[in-house]
Amino acid sequence: MKNPRLVFLAALAGIAALALSAAGPEPSADFRATVERLVRTARETNGAYDTIRGLTDSVGPRLSGSPGDARAVAWAEAALKRLGFANVRAETVTVPRWERGEESGEIVSPAPFRLSLCALGGSVGTPAGGIEAEVVEAQSLEGVDALGEKAKGRIVFVWKVMERKSDGSGYGATVPIRGGAASRAAKVGAIGVLIRSVGTSNARFPHTGAMSYQEGVAKIPAAALANPDADLVHRLLEGGKVVRVRFALGARMLPDAASANVVGEIPGREKPEEIVVLGGHLDSWDLGQGAIDDAAGLGIVIEAARLIGQLPKRPRRTLRVVAFANEENGLAGARAYAKGHAAELPLHVAAIESDSGAGRVSGFGWTAGPAAEPYLASVAAILKPFGLGDVKKGGGGADIGPLRAAGVPVFSPIQDSSRYFDLHHSADDTFDKIDREELNTGVAAVAALAYSLAESEAPLERIPEAERASRRER
Ligand code: ZN
Ligand code: ZN
Repeated sequence: MKNPRLVFLAALAGIAALALSAAGPEPSADFRATVERLVRTARETNGAYDTIRGLTDSVGPRLSGSPGDARAVAWAEAALKRLGFANVRAETVTVPRWERGEESGEIVSPAPFRLSLCALGGSVGTPAGGIEAEVVEAQSLEGVDALGEKAKGRIVFVWKVMERKSDGSGYGATVPIRGGAASRAAKVGAIGVLIRSVGTSNARFPHTGAMSYQEGVAKIPAAALANPDADLVHRLLEGGKVVRVRFALGARMLPDAASANVVGEIPGREKPEEIVVLGGHLDSWDLGQGAIDDAAGLGIVIEAARLIGQLPKRPRRTLRVVAFANEENGLAGARAYAKGHAAELPLHVAAIESDSGAGRVSGFGWTAGPAAEPYLASVAAILKPFGLGDVKKGGGGADIGPLRAAGVPVFSPIQDSSRYFDLHHSADDTFDKIDREELNTGVAAVAALAYSLAESEAPLERIPEAERASRRER
């Protein structure tokens, strides 16, 4: 090309083509109108609120394998059928069954004080009558190791304050203590372990959550103290006092039990064999109602899918709501889903998980191949005027971890978690904490995103091999 004017024009055309591919295709007016309609409808709906109310008030706590869990499975099947989902079924999952039993504790000296505590999920019980010993403090897992001889025959107490952050990242900084303190303390000869709750509330509610024992290490009882009680023990020790504590846990492991992932679908109009999963978890801890964790997440995904099913024209692909079993103490439901649907995983084009409560949503996080970015940016641009347009790299959830490992693009709402950990895994996680207006921002964002993923011309690029490894979330 010798003509300089032609070279210039060709260069311009190249730039224009580049700009177009970076911004993605301009969404059609029809598509935009449908997304906007979903958002507006979601903001007015009572659906998610009513679903959460049904699960929390009529089923109650539903720890894996418990009678409450069985009631939850029956409730989910009935609810999905009543709400008009197709192909509703319960897919059996074998789950661990842990039972809390009775529990109590007190400071014996220097001054008697009745403690508010709870066993961590998976802990062994104490001998009848409990255990009593002097308390030694550490402030990290490495600090537990460093106690050495000082821990022998004692109760190890780990005091670390969880930071309140709007993105919930204070959790990741403290949850390893909950999971691992017992075996670390047993290795240095402790007879029991107490931790400051992994939670941000200063109310006298202890926060439970999963812990596990290392193979070949003595299993010692492990409990969380309500934060004000933990801070009391900390102050006494800091003041040089010898602190003796007694606590008794009636916790025990029972034989594995049957539970189920409950599934319901909105079949796609063109490519019904291609699937977008919308997940939350059906199980909960036993202390509260499991309203924010995770009835809220289920309420959001069920209502988002239902609203899409009510559209005059359904999206191309099938939406599949999955109420996962056993997220809290085993992830057996997540594994069973991926195994049971292994042949179908190449047809899973995306998965969204909602498991960060009922707080305000401002957009979505995503994990997919880089070519997905322009399309997602064009969806976010439609959502921006509604306050839902935040996009960040990095999305997913514990139940869809195995799908991520198979390369399925995974998503989660960006949610204000600043108050989530006041309630999380405590007796204070009850229905009254749900704010309908905030909740519906989640319904709107998930409905818009799910519709976009089910309606795109082609599936989004899958997660590159190197980025598929997942981490345990909440
Ligand atoms: Zn959860
Ligand atoms: Zn949880």
